[in-house]
Amino acid sequence: MTITKSDLQPQFKFEVTAMPGGELAKRCFDCGSCTGVCPVSQAEAAFDPRRILHMIKMGLKDRLLDSEAIWYCSHCDTCAFVCPQGVQFSGVVDVLREMAIQQGYVDPAVFEQWGTGPCKATCPAHISIPGFIAAIAQGRYAEGLRLIKKEMPFPAICGRVCPHPCEGKCNRGKVDEPIAIEYLKRFLADADFSSEVRYVPEIEAKREEKVAIIGAGPAGLTAAYYLAIEGYRVTVFERLPVAGGMMAVGIPEYRLPRNILQAEIDVIRALGVEIKLDFEIGKDLSFDDLRNDFQAVFISVGCHQALKIGIPGEDDFEEVIDCITFLRDINLGKPPAYKGRLVVLGGGNAAIDSARVAKRLWYDDVAIFYRRTREEMPASPWEVEEAIEEGIDLQFLTAPARILGSHGKISGLECMRMALVEADESGRRRPIPIEGSEFTVKADVVVVAIGQRSDLSFLANGHGIDVSPRNTVEADPVTAATNIAGIFAGGDVASGPRTVVEAVAFGKKAAASINRYLKGDDIRAGYRKDWKGVEFEPKDVERADRQPMLRLSVAERAGTFDEVDLGFNEQQASREADRCLRLCGIQKAKESNK
Ligand SMILES: Cc1cc2nc3c(=O)[nH]c(=O)nc-3n(C[C@H](O)[C@H](O)[C@H](O)COP(=O)(O)OP(=O)(O)OC[C@H]3O[C@@H](n4cnc5c(N)ncnc54)[C@H](O)[C@@H]3O)c2cc1C
Repeated sequence: MTITKSDLQPQFKFEVTAMPGGELAKRCFDCGSCTGVCPVSQAEAAFDPRRILHMIKMGLKDRLLDSEAIWYCSHCDTCAFVCPQGVQFSGVVDVLREMAIQQGYVDPAVFEQWGTGPCKATCPAHISIPGFIAAIAQGRYAEGLRLIKKEMPFPAICGRVCPHPCEGKCNRGKVDEPIAIEYLKRFLADADFSSEVRYVPEIEAKREEKVAIIGAGPAGLTAAYYLAIEGYRVTVFERLPVAGGMMAVGIPEYRLPRNILQAEIDVIRALGVEIKLDFEIGKDLSFDDLRNDFQAVFISVGCHQALKIGIPGEDDFEEVIDCITFLRDINLGKPPAYKGRLVVLGGGNAAIDSARVAKRLWYDDVAIFYRRTREEMPASPWEVEEAIEEGIDLQFLTAPARILGSHGKISGLECMRMALVEADESGRRRPIPIEGSEFTVKADVVVVAIGQRSDLSFLANGHGIDVSPRNTVEADPVTAATNIAGIFAGGDVASGPRTVVEAVAFGKKAAASINRYLKGDDIRAGYRKDWKGVEFEPKDVERADRQPMLRLSVAERAGTFDEVDLGFNEQQASREADRCLRLCGIQKAKESNK
């Protein structure tokens, strides 16, 4: 479609800003950068971001709705990083689509799911992954970082510890190997650390309302970040002497250096957020007083109470310790003075972390006992691999029956061999003890790492907030709202133990809801529908090896907490970015949205 002279006479008299998308389109001065980088525009002549903005400015509503334009945008946000005016074109497309529905041009069911690249759809924070990868390919690191920071405040952290579900869905994986999305994210964040001026988002307006956040983990800090950008006065209350939650006192330093963690938290402080450390709600200030002082409250206290394994002897010895306390003490610089053989009980990431930390600190002889097999371990496979590399002894199908010892001194464990039968409600095969298989092993220290739950004692006086039988705060997964107006909850305290990126996603939703609540808007209005990742079979794509991550050798890791993964250099990042197919979104546009 070409614009003719008659098009320039608007058929409807619109104020540009009165038209949906007009506020954004008004900023456009027709430089054409968006069209230049848009992968859809390059493949589909019908699609041209600049022309769409132009039509909005001209008020050509009917032409817009009739045009192919709004069907093709794949929300990769590649345009957003080049726009000198910061127009988020996919935001424009969203309002156009909304308009198309409102005006009866399309059946709303067409847009029930928003199609995009499967990486972006799978990411709990819905980062514009194709967009930031395109930015890397063009050497525009600052713009790429800004795209990520629009969706989450912790690219350096998540570029190191995220279990990267996005990579599992990457269409490139059908050709050879998925794009190293996690490492590319880290690359951009690390480039920001070494730039002269670090990126701090602009604060949109100043608002008087005060918001309290309980807990400075990723959920709480993310909510603080977005609320501060909206201009609210935000105070985060944290009972520990450090900010970061489990990122600071759970995840070990060799996976997440503390200067990196603090550097990302510093940006949140730079936005004016006050983080009050060593300040426990329920002790230093009651929950009621907090509610009276603040217009909205976000509960994000995580899960810091370890579960007990429930075997005889568990409470009888000082050397039986839960992994949450064990890792927290070490991370806060108070390593316990144990000696001898250390056995960790459990199969999740916390078990692996406890074992690898113990090995680094003092122990030659560290073992993990897990009652299922390696296949069922909830720990990330690469963590298990690295633990084995570092000499941790993994014993599968082994469960403890009791802790042995006398006179307050532990001597070992009585264990049983297990067999796996049919799957339980978790979908994993259920372990049952093999009769007569008891055996004893030596142990001087036992670390119990079988899970954790929330400590909700600060709500103990009955504040009417609904709590589930699993001891999580009942919060709407879409809005983070609890049953009490003005009180929101999210992250591990609402979902049970999950991951950093899921806590981030929850914190982001909470911030959006709190913003709406304080403005008196419907908190459910405007929530984006589900993203749909478009799968397709790539054809005629040349194979290209995924860039390897450089790592410290096993010998170099011994006895230190130095970071194991060394990051991509510029050349590697550029090569890896070039492997991105970029066309996933276009496939979606044609197949799922039309
Ligand atoms: C050992 C370990 C390793 C992990 N490794 C990974 C990993 O590699 N990748 C990954 O994605 N996820 C990992 N996780 C999970 C991840 O860290 C959590 O899912 C995430 O931190 C949850 O975020 P959150 O903000 O909900 O809670 P948290 O991070 O737990 O933060 C909650 C904060 O609230 C504070 N608080 C609690 N009660 C109060 C109160 N009454 N007053 C004031 N403050 C309070 C706590 O001190 C804490 O700082 C790991 C977890 C553990 C335990």
